[in-house]
Amino acid sequence: MKKETACVHGGTYRDRAVRGVNTPIFTSSACEYLDRGETPYPRYFNTPNQEAVVAKVCRLEGAQAGVLFSSGMAAMSTSILAFAGAGDHVVLMDELYGGTHSFATDDLGKLGIGFSFAATDADAVIGAVNGRTRVVVVESPTNPLLSVIDIAKVARFARERGITTIMDGTFASPVNQNPLALGMDVVVHSATKYLGGHSDLCGGLALSSQEKAGRILSLARHLGGSLDSFACYLLERSIKTLALRVERQSANAMALALFLRDHRSVRRVNYPGLPDFPGHEIARAQMRGFGGMLSFFLDEERLHPDTFVRRLGLIVPAVSLGGVDTTICSPAATSHSTLSPQERERLGITPSLFRLSAGIEHVDDLIADLEQALKG
Ligand code: PLP
Repeated sequence: MKKETACVHGGTYRDRAVRGVNTPIFTSSACEYLDRGETPYPRYFNTPNQEAVVAKVCRLEGAQAGVLFSSGMAAMSTSILAFAGAGDHVVLMDELYGGTHSFATDDLGKLGIGFSFAATDADAVIGAVNGRTRVVVVESPTNPLLSVIDIAKVARFARERGITTIMDGTFASPVNQNPLALGMDVVVHSATKYLGGHSDLCGGLALSSQEKAGRILSLARHLGGSLDSFACYLLERSIKTLALRVERQSANAMALALFLRDHRSVRRVNYPGLPDFPGHEIARAQMRGFGGMLSFFLDEERLHPDTFVRRLGLIVPAVSLGGVDTTICSPAATSHSTLSPQERERLGITPSLFRLSAGIEHVDDLIADLEQALKG
């Protein structure tokens, strides 16, 4: 089954009552237990609505199994804790999504888990591994600088040493990149972004082999971050159009990246699809499309960031990403505000940096809006 087909048909629960084409919404949290095995229960992550979403995304990621969570952070934190305990060590890239970064700095130490941050480069990640390392966490392209890492290289190194690799695949979505096929052990998605795609739900997934998903699931049942049936249904419905949406979002992002690159009020554009972007060749090798996310640095001498963002009319200054509406945000003020000013400065997340999530509008309207807002 090709991805476009799996988006529509994968995992659908066959409705025997009316023989409809959609998975019905199952609302019961109390189910009969006589004469059957395990009963469905929302916090056991085993209701038909939860299982339908997991089966669909497993098809898209080429995964044996997965767990559907109430947020991307629930998926990421549970996955890390499923494979690392007191006395162990975790290596993370320093350019991760801000929430994952602060989960490490605020919480891993309290649990007796050591950790190191490494630069966004396969050799740097490999170099940060020590004898106690049990988990390596990577993200590519990264939020918000769109840096690209050689996924297969990290995966090969870790697998030879029995270290579990976890990859945040949110930015690329399963349409553009399949980390498990590149050797990663677990791929995590914030379903709040591309999978949900309409900025109206919050969810997350962790997908892997049956054995690793089993470990994640047993911890998830204790931590309890499961998704309710209504949100599952909305998510399943959204994924039917995932391939179409991401294709359009990727094309819009490429056109916007080219427009911004040539604009005199813009200093630099980060987009893996640009041939002169540092990670372009690796991205070409491991991604099917370059995705709908880009970021850029304004030339602050020509235009104040606040003036620019307040002038925008169509493009919405909003947190989150991956929806059908084009949105823009200042990572320093939003997704990465929990990092210390020194850490932001070190990573290059300055007030002149904007992250743009391309939607599915006509690209001419998006360019016109940027054009009028960028006038110096
Ligand atoms: N990973 C990435 C790359 C993200 O951008 C986000 C949220 O912005 C998350 C994970 C966390 O997802 P959620 O907000 O669904 O917990």
